[in-house]
Amino acid sequence: MKIAFIGSECYPFVKTGGLGDVMYALPRALKREGDEVRVILPLYQCIPAKYKENLVWKGSFMMDLTMEGRTFFVGIMETVLDGVTYDFIDNKEFFDWGNPYTGLWEDIPKYCYFSKASLAILNYMEWIPDVIHCHDWQAALVPLYLRTRFWGTPIEKAKTVLTIHNLRFQGICSIDHLKYWSGLPDGLFDYPVLKQNENESNMFKGGLAYADRITTVSATYAREIQTPDYGEGLDAHLRYHSGKLSGIVNGIDVDLWNSDTDQLLAARYNEENVLQKKALNKRALQQSLGLEEDEGKMVLGLVSRLTDQKGLDLVDAVLPQLIDGRTQVVVLGTGDPRYENAFRYYEGQFPGSVCAYISYNEGLAHQIYAGSDALLVPSLFEPCGLTQLIAMRYGAVPIVRETGGLKDTVMPYNAEENSGNGFTFNWYDSGLLLQAITSARSLYFEDRARWDEMVRRNMRKDVSWEQSAAQYEDLYRTLVR
Ligand code: ADP
Repeated sequence: MKIAFIGSECYPFVKTGGLGDVMYALPRALKREGDEVRVILPLYQCIPAKYKENLVWKGSFMMDLTMEGRTFFVGIMETVLDGVTYDFIDNKEFFDWGNPYTGLWEDIPKYCYFSKASLAILNYMEWIPDVIHCHDWQAALVPLYLRTRFWGTPIEKAKTVLTIHNLRFQGICSIDHLKYWSGLPDGLFDYPVLKQNENESNMFKGGLAYADRITTVSATYAREIQTPDYGEGLDAHLRYHSGKLSGIVNGIDVDLWNSDTDQLLAARYNEENVLQKKALNKRALQQSLGLEEDEGKMVLGLVSRLTDQKGLDLVDAVLPQLIDGRTQVVVLGTGDPRYENAFRYYEGQFPGSVCAYISYNEGLAHQIYAGSDALLVPSLFEPCGLTQLIAMRYGAVPIVRETGGLKDTVMPYNAEENSGNGFTFNWYDSGLLLQAITSARSLYFEDRARWDEMVRRNMRKDVSWEQSAAQYEDLYRTLVR
């Protein structure tokens, strides 16, 4: 099959979260299955020069956008990495600022342009995919453009899949703003499609209505978003479209996340020598972060965007109670100043036991997964979550809230059966988080053999993309038939 991926970020060019990982790993997994895959991305200014230097010019044309039909330049720059073709859309008016996002007011025109230009370049290159796989609100207008402005052009035969990576972000703005920039027909600005309320429109809502299939990144999240608690205002819309909605859990790229070959680690390791080598990684981590160097301490890691979604108020509430002379906490993340400052405060309060590394740092993330004994992921909601998967692969035991993909991928430790992958809690409550961490600590300090078995069990668990890629293929096939 021929599949086009359209989304706003993709590792290694530009990544702010899990979407970037998926846009990298899933196309490669599909390619291994024998599919032909193209990934379409904006040529942001923030993409590192080393990638831009290798791009090859494939052509350019002018495209109309907006209600007035203003014309804009569309350039196509291409590169091929490991058999996957990446086509970058070049336009300095839209893509020359932001990291890669700017603010919703500017991002709405940016992604109207991007969605329309993505279809236009496929026609221009005469590469007509069987399926166009769109990701999140930034690409949600693609199914709408396809069935209106591109009707009667070669691309019309393509089917669309729209994946929800995070329903919190929907691309909501005034009806006038979206009407002007998208240039979509007035008829779409009604309640079943783009209209959110009397004054506002919602890009994700429109895309969900028009896509041939909707997926999200875990079965539990697919159920949760049909309820008012998790539906972010779109639960009724999703219930209405539930017949075409399904959940497929993410994997991780096991070549990229491979502790046996990871050049960023102080000591590389596998399931056989993890216990000895994790101690070396732990010492190196403690040393580089100014923590007390002692491999006997239990290190709890946290690698996350620092936002409300991630359950950080729970961590904030229990952190002082974790510092007992034998536990250390390492936080890597950026985001809401409220959390950044809380973790900085604890670092000052508990020197040698807490480190708050307020930054985005890919290398340190690898070192934390390798050097930690456990990883905290107590999210308020979590569509899939990748950090718990990476943690398992790197032999750090996840401590998670039972929501979304966390629930689907981390089975709770069962002492009677000596089974499970981590420690879990259900209600969003700091007391329950503390209880889960306490259970983890008891096992770690009092029954290390069982703990070590869990570490090894987790490293053996299949968290690769292969199974998920096969499920996406099955889904594509139902459309192509
Ligand atoms: P989300 O997409 O909601 O941010 P995920 O768990 O799906 O969460 O994906 C997070 C990804 O981003 C993981 O690969 C994680 O290692 C990475 N990450 C998050 N914060 C940082 C950071 N501060 N530095 C480096 N990597 C980070």
